[in-house]
Amino acid sequence: MTRINARSPLLSFGISMLGPVLLEFGSEAQKHEHLPKIVRGEIRWCQGYSEPGSGSDLASLQTRAVLDGDEYVINGSKIWTSFAHLSDWIFCLVRTDPDVPKHDGISFILFDMKSKGVEANPIQLISGSSQFCETFFEDVRALRGNLVGEVNKGWPIAKRLLQHERNMVAGMGTQGAPKSPEHAIENQAKKYVGEFQGKIANSNLRDKITRHKMNSKAFSLTLRRSASEARTSSAPSPASSMFKYYGTEQNKGRFEVMMDMLGAQGLGWDGDGFLDKELSTTRSWLRSKANSIEGGTSEVQLNIIAKRVLELPD
Ligand SMILES: Cc1cc2nc3c(=O)[nH]c(=O)nc-3n(C[C@H](O)[C@H](O)[C@H](O)COP(=O)(O)OP(=O)(O)OC[C@H]3O[C@@H](n4cnc5c(N)ncnc54)[C@H](O)[C@@H]3O)c2cc1C
Repeated sequence: MTRINARSPLLSFGISMLGPVLLEFGSEAQKHEHLPKIVRGEIRWCQGYSEPGSGSDLASLQTRAVLDGDEYVINGSKIWTSFAHLSDWIFCLVRTDPDVPKHDGISFILFDMKSKGVEANPIQLISGSSQFCETFFEDVRALRGNLVGEVNKGWPIAKRLLQHERNMVAGMGTQGAPKSPEHAIENQAKKYVGEFQGKIANSNLRDKITRHKMNSKAFSLTLRRSASEARTSSAPSPASSMFKYYGTEQNKGRFEVMMDMLGAQGLGWDGDGFLDKELSTTRSWLRSKANSIEGGTSEVQLNIIAKRVLELPD
């Protein structure tokens, strides 16, 4: 679509993460209520998973939901909730039974971010921007009908959503493949380091760019192969951890190559002496460092690959 100058397709937590999970686990009423708004881009969802103390060990989460008549009453807090302050609804993991093993007492619930008792405080980053929030729930009431799947059976749903999220994040690693917008990287490199016999003058940089493009191409073919294999089974698998791991490393590598190319022009954060494009590359390079944390860290992906894909002993 970029190649033909079309505008980007709609991308959201609803489309990439919650929508597929509702299709698999949601009730008919939930599908009818939420899916049309998701596909029309009328609703923005945020993800209430991580808590202070429960990131990699997500199943240790403490936010409580207690049934009161036909409603759940929710108390607790979440952290790193991306764009919670701008979101309409949240899909949230809550503990509905504290007396059973941790994975067996979790439920997956949806509620309106405008509900009484919800507070989303943006966390200001060193860059000055605020992409995620500390989110607090005090006696927030959510209809029982907003629980997805069965009570206390939320963990498999939570994991499935993470697999969709990881596949989405993995897609970053295909940028840089030939014919993608990053194809232009060679032309830019010639501008920054010069040209010799039609090639990038710096052989080291030329080598890095070529390797990067080959890996991106191989990775995008692997993703396509896996997507067509997945058509024969209904859902993603723990293999999404392999793609998330590789894709995010690849995306970070892409920005490293671009920083090599920019040289001193990549040192700017603000102000004169730098093109807007250069400043935004430097900021995106720093932002790319978070790719191997968000959606589960690289170390956690390696653990999942060892246990669930390679089936190595604990
Ligand atoms: C840009 C960004 C956006 C995010 N958006 C959201 C969001 O919208 N909603 C949400 O719920 N969360 C979000 N998160 C949070 C993210 O899911 C967590 O940061 C992530 O799961 C890691 O948890 P943690 O930060 O608590 O680190 P910790 O779990 O404390 O980990 C600290 C370090 O220890 C390592 N580690 C931990 N356990 C193990 C282990 N068993 N084996 C080996 N190493 C281990 C980790 O790899 C990491 O290096 C976001 C994070 C980022 C960076």
